[in-house]
Amino acid sequence: MKCAKKYISAGVILTLSLALSLPARSNDKLKLVTTIPDLADIAARIGGDRVEVEALAKGYQDPHFVDAKPSLILKLKRADMFIQVGLDLEIGWVPPLLEAARNKNIFYGGTGYVNASEGIELLEVPNVDAAQLRAQGDIHVWGNPHFWLDPMNGKIIAGNISAKLSKISPSDASYFQNNLATFTAQLDSANAVWMQKIAPFKNTEILAYHNSWPYFEEHFQLRIAGFIEAKPGIPPTPGHLVDLIQIIKNKKIGVIIISPYFDDKPAKSVASQVGAKVIPVAPSVGAFKEVKSYFDLFSYNIDVLVKAFEETEVAPIH
Ligand SMILES: [Zn+2]
Repeated sequence: MKCAKKYISAGVILTLSLALSLPARSNDKLKLVTTIPDLADIAARIGGDRVEVEALAKGYQDPHFVDAKPSLILKLKRADMFIQVGLDLEIGWVPPLLEAARNKNIFYGGTGYVNASEGIELLEVPNVDAAQLRAQGDIHVWGNPHFWLDPMNGKIIAGNISAKLSKISPSDASYFQNNLATFTAQLDSANAVWMQKIAPFKNTEILAYHNSWPYFEEHFQLRIAGFIEAKPGIPPTPGHLVDLIQIIKNKKIGVIIISPYFDDKPAKSVASQVGAKVIPVAPSVGAFKEVKSYFDLFSYNIDVLVKAFEETEVAPIH
């Protein structure tokens, strides 16, 4: 491909002429496309000025159900690298887009294909046949795919991206490696602050709308006692809501978290019957205008949760 040759030759020229004094290769940047904006933010931090990054989905869209629009196919046709969460998070929309884009570099197994879930210690891997679960409407059949909500998994995702970038552009490998080290250090120091803020609320029980939060829950030591959805991807039934009200009463739960793309009526109805609060949280970068980066994602969620816990009468269970 013409473009690929251009990158290689640009890389060689840069190496030979001691790139430090040269301006960024604005026309020869690697084009990275990700599914969710969280991956885009991480990829931009690792790729730095060697890449252009774009996410197909917005942070306020449900990543399980994105419209496979023709404009997205166009972005994939031009991409040098494609990064997805994997498992079955994007199973409903990514396979048809990749098929239609006919870009072998970014197709499964291609030089520019990144499955961000590689190396992640998955939670909630079912021991039931995947096809059987999917037939029931479940959309987490390979394990819970919302692993980017543990900031420590951000490091693994970044490592996967760095490794692939280094293969595509070996002359920039040490640059990507440095960016990875910087990102990891920044994440560790930000994480220390988040952990300190949430520590007084260790083991506090909450409810969530969708099962997006097990990695977040485990890392920040919260306890999610139930979900408004009957199953991942299955809206609540009246009977299920009655059960939830009982759980809230028994466990004295004060907070129900919900992502912006879900209908908040069932959660609000439950909350109003038991005096709980419905707290909108960010499942992804871009979910709210304040959440501009992977770091903001955790800062925002920790801050709204701490505020909600402080305002509720419910004492954490130690
Ligand atoms: Zn899900």
